[in-house]
Amino acid sequence: MRKIQMVDLLRQYEEIQSEIDQAILSTIRTTAFINGPEVKSFQKELEDYLHVNHVIPCANGTDALQVAMMALNLQPGDEVITASFTYVATAEVIALLKLKPVLVDVDPDTFCIDTEEIRKAITPKTKAIVPVHLFGQCADMEEILSIAKEHNLYVIEDTAQAIGAEYTFSDGTVKKAGTMGTFGCTSFFPSKNLGCYGDGGAIFTNDEELAKKTRMIANHGQRVQYYHDEIGVNSRLDSIQAAILRCKLPHLDTYNKKRLDVALFYNAAFGELENVITPCIDSQSSHVFHQYTLRLQGIDREALRKYLAEQEIPAMIYYPVPLHLQKAYSDSRYQEGQFPVTEELCREVISLPMSPNLDPEQLNYITHHFKAFLTSNHISQA
Ligand SMILES: *Cc1c(COP(=O)(O)O)cnc(C)c1O
Repeated sequence: MRKIQMVDLLRQYEEIQSEIDQAILSTIRTTAFINGPEVKSFQKELEDYLHVNHVIPCANGTDALQVAMMALNLQPGDEVITASFTYVATAEVIALLKLKPVLVDVDPDTFCIDTEEIRKAITPKTKAIVPVHLFGQCADMEEILSIAKEHNLYVIEDTAQAIGAEYTFSDGTVKKAGTMGTFGCTSFFPSKNLGCYGDGGAIFTNDEELAKKTRMIANHGQRVQYYHDEIGVNSRLDSIQAAILRCKLPHLDTYNKKRLDVALFYNAAFGELENVITPCIDSQSSHVFHQYTLRLQGIDREALRKYLAEQEIPAMIYYPVPLHLQKAYSDSRYQEGQFPVTEELCREVISLPMSPNLDPEQLNYITHHFKAFLTSNHISQA
């Protein structure tokens, strides 16, 4: 059996190796290493795939969030609401720009931001909501967009984990993750569903003026070379990464479908287990399973991880510490117990290997050992 990885990037490369090698080599020969023709072509192809008017490629997903917030002209002290259960990047850029991150709890089923809690957190200073489409499934965008409209707020979707997911509104309209808000921000970090071989990211918007401004900010605030209209940043996608992404984009839907198949296999294997909650698939959002994340109730998570590691099955905790209890984000507004769902998730979650190319032998091996642990005597007497 092939060694199991959390995400098997080598196998994915091997499946399309000749295409990728060819793309890298021919990009080198153009010597247009930054913002070259490959970047323009990738931008166009991603716009077509997402059905969005503008894609602005940039250096990584964290920058995508930062540049989007800069383009909205948010001022120090403006409040930005986001989820307490997410990767740190979301809150990091809010804090870096001297905006005020306002954290709120998440929904226990989808793990995405709780819209009732958003309503409670709105003040006259609130300017934006940043929903995170966590683990591959969209937040409740219909409700979020309606709250935003009611209070005149921007919506910046963090879709780093959900590229390709589709959201269906109650009137039947279907939109891709990242194309519903003012901005969508994504990451092409290698392990993301659409990953390159280094860092990369992109911003999506349907607003032409915002697109122009965003493109300018990502490139030193210049519209014309050496004429700087705004203070910007250096955040560009390099051409070799764009060439790799152009090879992978046509496969994205297949990769996402295979991830769903893996998740359904796991769900079928674990669905009957007591003390284990399998991920829910929301009725309005498809799930592209960036992560397959279980909740363990009354099970010794560290003992399980150790047992799996002994069988050479990797497993990860996304995320062990909620944002409001991180040292860097400690704040007199927050104490332990404040976001009970987030805190419970941080204690209970475990993510299993997830790749489009996990094979049946590996899947059977993983589910067999997971169940073997549970039927042994490792349930704690909590
Ligand atoms: C990966 C990720 C980011 C940041 O992307 P980078 O490209 O690593 O900067 C932001 N938000 C979420 C939810 C992510 O998973």
